[in-house]
Amino acid sequence: MLKIAIQKSGRLYEESVKLLKECGIQIANGNKQLKASAENFPLEIYFLRDDDIPQYVFDKVADIGIVGENVLLEKNKDINLQYRLGFGKCRLSLAVPKEMPYSGVKDLQGLKIATTYAHLTQQYLNKNNISAEIHEISGSVEIAPGIGLADAICDLVSSGSTLFTNGLKEVETILQSEAVLVSNKDLTDENKILLEKLLMRINAVKTAKNNKYILLNAPNHQLKNIADILPGSKSPTIVPLATEGWSSIQSVVNENDFWDVIEKLKALDAQGILVVPIEKMIM
Ligand code: ATP
Ligand code: ZN
Repeated sequence: MLKIAIQKSGRLYEESVKLLKECGIQIANGNKQLKASAENFPLEIYFLRDDDIPQYVFDKVADIGIVGENVLLEKNKDINLQYRLGFGKCRLSLAVPKEMPYSGVKDLQGLKIATTYAHLTQQYLNKNNISAEIHEISGSVEIAPGIGLADAICDLVSSGSTLFTNGLKEVETILQSEAVLVSNKDLTDENKILLEKLLMRINAVKTAKNNKYILLNAPNHQLKNIADILPGSKSPTIVPLATEGWSSIQSVVNENDFWDVIEKLKALDAQGILVVPIEKMIM
């Protein structure tokens, strides 16, 4: 039985549960309890505060967990990062009052900095040879300068609107973060196999999201040119159409190249281009 810790409620909860569901894992009871079991995979789910997850995975209360990389690095526990999950994206940044002149890290010298990320902030200051006073608080960091508690803050940012409404400006980015799957370093053989299975499923879900299935019709004299820009998994599938001199082509296109490929296909006389989402993709 593999035990996974996920956030009980908050920014990572919904995506974590959704990911398990997309991996075909049905969770019997929601996050009302501390613990739930999967109906069709030997998995127990623990719903916890995100800050506690690295410690619980280190202590083997849970074998694996889903947590922000920011929390993983702040807690600095000796556990493995297994997979970057691509959701919960944010950055850990230093911010100062809008009106404060700022030309570089040296302007942080001697300031009082409020943060919930004392370890990462200290590490950043050390790396830049700055000595500043870190004031560790547990929440509402963004109001600290306004109430005279600190001169600057170090906090998580996504859009920057919270900083803006609190009269702050972002001046340095310490870390880019996203949700990650972590594991204990010393899993049983049985749990290693279960983790491999789970990672294979996660990878199939993530790869599918990054790719689209594409179908199109093209005149036969362009098939070679089209095949060259549509590598697909191996090579595209080509089927003759009832109309003489035309074929139907099927392939897979990566999201990043998508519009580029479509423009090239149109230039090669492709017609009736259909783009279909892929649910799972096993390479
Ligand atoms: P808990 O009650 O579990 O301690 P929390 O209030 O500490 O919850 P959330 O605000 O739900 O945590 O954030 C959880 C994680 O979501 C963060 O650690 C971070 O990895 C990620 N995240 C993504 N965007 C943001 C953002 N704009 N602000 C804060 N966290 C963000
Ligand atoms: Zn937290």
